[in-house]
Amino acid sequence: MANPTDIARETLKVLATRRMLPTPENYQKVYHEVAGTAPEAPGLEELQKIVRRLAEHAAAAKRPLLSLDRALGERQWTKVEEHLAKLAGGGADTVSWPDLIRELLKQWQTSHSGLTTQRKREGVEQVLIHFGSDPAMLGPKLQALVASWGQSPEAPGGSLTEGEALAEAAEAAPPSPAQAVRGAPQAPDGAVAGMLRDLVVQTLEHGVVPRLARFPDLADGARSLVARVREATDVLALQGLSKELKALWVRIELRGEDDAELLASVLSLLRLLLDNVAELVSDDQWLAGQIDVVRKVMAGEVDRRSMFEAERRFKEVLYKQGTLKKSLDEAKSTFKHMIATFVDRLGQMAESTSGYHDKISVYSERISATETIHQLSSVVHELMADTRGMQLDIARSRDELIETRRQVDEAERKVHELELELERVSGLVRSDQLTGTLNRRGLEDAFERELARAARSGAALSLALLDVDHFKRLNDRYGHQAGDAALVHLARVVQETLRPVDVVARYGGEEFIIVMPETPAADAVKAMTRLQRELTKRFFLHNQERLLITFSAGVAQWRAGEPVDALIARADQAVYEAKEHGRNRVVLSSA
Ligand code: GH3
Ligand code: MG
Ligand code: MG
Repeated sequence: MANPTDIARETLKVLATRRMLPTPENYQKVYHEVAGTAPEAPGLEELQKIVRRLAEHAAAAKRPLLSLDRALGERQWTKVEEHLAKLAGGGADTVSWPDLIRELLKQWQTSHSGLTTQRKREGVEQVLIHFGSDPAMLGPKLQALVASWGQSPEAPGGSLTEGEALAEAAEAAPPSPAQAVRGAPQAPDGAVAGMLRDLVVQTLEHGVVPRLARFPDLADGARSLVARVREATDVLALQGLSKELKALWVRIELRGEDDAELLASVLSLLRLLLDNVAELVSDDQWLAGQIDVVRKVMAGEVDRRSMFEAERRFKEVLYKQGTLKKSLDEAKSTFKHMIATFVDRLGQMAESTSGYHDKISVYSERISATETIHQLSSVVHELMADTRGMQLDIARSRDELIETRRQVDEAERKVHELELELERVSGLVRSDQLTGTLNRRGLEDAFERELARAARSGAALSLALLDVDHFKRLNDRYGHQAGDAALVHLARVVQETLRPVDVVARYGGEEFIIVMPETPAADAVKAMTRLQRELTKRFFLHNQERLLITFSAGVAQWRAGEPVDALIARADQAVYEAKEHGRNRVVLSSA
């Protein structure tokens, strides 16, 4: 039966009598049976299906997989190998570009028979057009082209090789049927089966397994299949494995769906978040615009590039929002402070009129509990309405009110004094009342803590003793209160200039001790010098007069096991030396 039409008709009959479904596979099988020919390359179609399925799920490797499919369909084994090598990550053999360029220049200058420079240029251009965007192929193709020039006999004489080179360069163009036939070397069936087995192994090993990194169980499944495909020596064994391959695809597909669902829910969460952020920042044109851009990016097809773009925009939004929040907070606290002062004043005036007093304290509480400017505004509105009625009462009870206020203040002051006295008597006070630095008792505690820590860690600890220069003179000239204010000023500058870990204590009248943990003596001297500089910048103001306060300081580094008194004595000696040498200086203890 040689007529293909007859064979086809007979094939359909056989399918019907055997009650076989007319699937392409069944048709093909029976067709060959009827025609008495051997089915071509069993398993090849199965492999192509696998490759196509892979291409659907592996976005990153879609192009090489589709090229692989095409090469398989055309039985272009060299190409199949190339595409597989590409999928395996290595691409074609790596090309040494310097050598290639050198060779190109050499062959360019050599005159070959039948190869004009113009034709060489065309050859190179063809390669660039087809492989310019494919770094893995560009090198090898260029190399092949140059090699083909090299094989041409040097001029004079005819040659065909340039044509071959062009044909090779054109390989990436959609293949014509003629090309497909020309490029398909015929292999014996056994060899084809072996090649196919290798192809399945390579596809699984290099194309599938690396893409299953996130699903170790699936990757293991694929690997075990690889091992078994390797061992399968005949076509039958390979066919037996196809069921397991199918099961693997199904599992991969299911996981793919899981992934898609996960991505979808993450995206919807993100969109929700964006919507909320957009509401929050509706006042700010710039921010609203930025968020709109992010939303648009998210609304379209989401891929890596758009996600990256969205992330970049979002970061800008977050940054801007951070700065905005800061100024909002500042505005809020200023507003809050202003309202609180206002209420306080009203409260003072309304103290005797008990009806309003209650209201006012309610307002006070509400104001301190407010979180947003909006809440504050509504409190203010109500407050305004209430205060209108209050105005009349206020005028009447003003004097009464002031007197009451005075009495309250007096009572408060007395209570405060008594509390302080009580604290002092019970020895609980650790800080100096005038300057807010530690007092001697506080200093003792600090010493205990810091010396123990230094002994434990072995870190250096230094101490500085400060004595204000000519303080008596300042007292005499400007009065005791000015002297007190000067001490407060000095203590503030000290605390603001030094590190938070440094301990500042008032040791005596105008003497301060500074304990500097983790500081060698040289650094402590530097810190004191810095403090001196700072004091020359930050004048002490007395009745609009700028007064320069200077001090003399002695610095000593603690020696392991040294008693506190001895350490202070060494620093004191250094202070004495500083005074001796003209004051306003820092001296490192030489003892
Ligand atoms: P120098 O240290 O440079 O030698 O001169 P000085 O004038 O600072 O000398 P001295 O240390 O002898 O004098 C300290 C003066 O500080 C004595 C006292 O009048 C004054 N003083 C001590 N405690 C206080 C205080 O709490 N407030 C005020 N205003 N002055 C105080
Ligand atoms: Mg003194
Ligand atoms: Mg002094």
